[in-house]
Amino acid sequence: MAYLRGIDHPYQHNVQKYCFYCGHNISYPAIHWVGSVGAITLHSNCAVDLSIKLMSDVHHMQNDTNRRIRM
Ligand SMILES: [Zn+2]
Repeated sequence: MAYLRGIDHPYQHNVQKYCFYCGHNISYPAIHWVGSVGAITLHSNCAVDLSIKLMSDVHHMQNDTNRRIRM
Protein backbone atom coordinates (compact mmCIF):
# COMPACT_ATOMS: atom_id res chain seq x y z
CA MET A 1 0.00 0.00 0.00
CA ALA A 2 2.83 2.38 0.75
CA TYR A 3 6.58 2.59 0.65
CA LEU A 4 7.90 4.86 3.37
CA ARG A 5 11.23 6.54 2.67
CA GLY A 6 11.68 8.21 6.03
CA ILE A 7 10.10 9.25 9.28
CA ASP A 8 8.10 12.07 7.61
CA HIS A 9 5.21 10.44 5.77
CA PRO A 10 1.41 10.66 5.64
CA TYR A 11 0.90 7.42 7.63
CA GLN A 12 2.56 8.57 10.84
CA HIS A 13 -0.68 8.15 12.81
CA ASN A 14 -0.84 4.37 12.28
CA VAL A 15 2.71 3.23 11.45
CA GLN A 16 3.69 0.47 13.83
CA LYS A 17 6.78 0.93 15.99
CA TYR A 18 7.80 -2.71 15.53
CA CYS A 19 8.02 -4.81 12.38
CA PHE A 20 4.98 -7.05 11.91
CA TYR A 21 7.23 -9.91 10.75
CA CYS A 22 10.41 -9.89 12.87
CA GLY A 23 9.37 -7.71 15.80
CA HIS A 24 12.40 -5.43 15.71
CA ASN A 25 12.16 -1.63 15.67
CA ILE A 26 11.05 -0.22 12.35
CA SER A 27 13.77 1.46 10.31
CA TYR A 28 13.47 3.17 6.95
CA PRO A 29 12.79 2.44 4.17
CA ALA A 30 9.78 0.47 5.34
CA ILE A 31 6.61 -1.03 3.87
CA HIS A 32 3.26 -0.02 5.32
CA TRP A 33 -0.11 -1.62 4.58
CA VAL A 34 -3.48 -0.52 5.84
CA GLY A 35 -6.24 -3.13 5.88
CA SER A 36 -9.88 -3.06 6.88
CA VAL A 37 -9.18 -3.77 10.57
CA GLY A 38 -5.66 -2.51 11.10
CA ALA A 39 -2.25 -1.68 9.70
CA ILE A 40 1.08 -3.46 9.49
CA THR A 41 4.55 -2.03 9.01
CA LEU A 42 7.52 -4.12 7.92
CA HIS A 43 11.17 -3.82 6.99
CA SER A 44 11.50 -4.13 3.21
CA ASN A 45 13.44 -7.42 3.55
CA CYS A 46 10.80 -8.77 5.92
CA ALA A 47 8.08 -7.85 3.39
CA VAL A 48 9.91 -10.01 0.83
CA ASP A 49 10.22 -12.93 3.28
CA LEU A 50 6.56 -12.64 4.32
CA SER A 51 5.30 -12.52 0.73
CA ILE A 52 7.33 -15.62 -0.19
CA LYS A 53 5.91 -17.51 2.81
CA LEU A 54 2.42 -16.27 2.05
CA MET A 55 2.64 -17.57 -1.51
CA SER A 56 4.07 -20.85 -0.19
CA ASP A 57 1.03 -21.23 2.09
CA VAL A 58 -1.29 -20.61 -0.86
CA HIS A 59 0.64 -23.18 -2.91
CA HIS A 60 0.31 -25.78 -0.14
CA MET A 61 -3.38 -25.01 0.24
CA GLN A 62 -3.89 -25.46 -3.50
CA ASN A 63 -2.15 -28.83 -3.35
CA ASP A 64 -4.04 -29.98 -0.25
CA THR A 65 -7.43 -28.94 -1.59
CA ASN A 66 -6.66 -29.81 -5.22
CA ARG A 67 -8.02 -26.38 -6.13
CA ARG A 68 -6.39 -23.44 -7.81
CA ILE A 69 -7.17 -20.03 -6.44
CA ARG A 70 -8.58 -17.90 -9.22
CA MET A 71 -9.59 -14.29 -9.31
ZN1 LIG B 1 11.39 -6.93 10.15
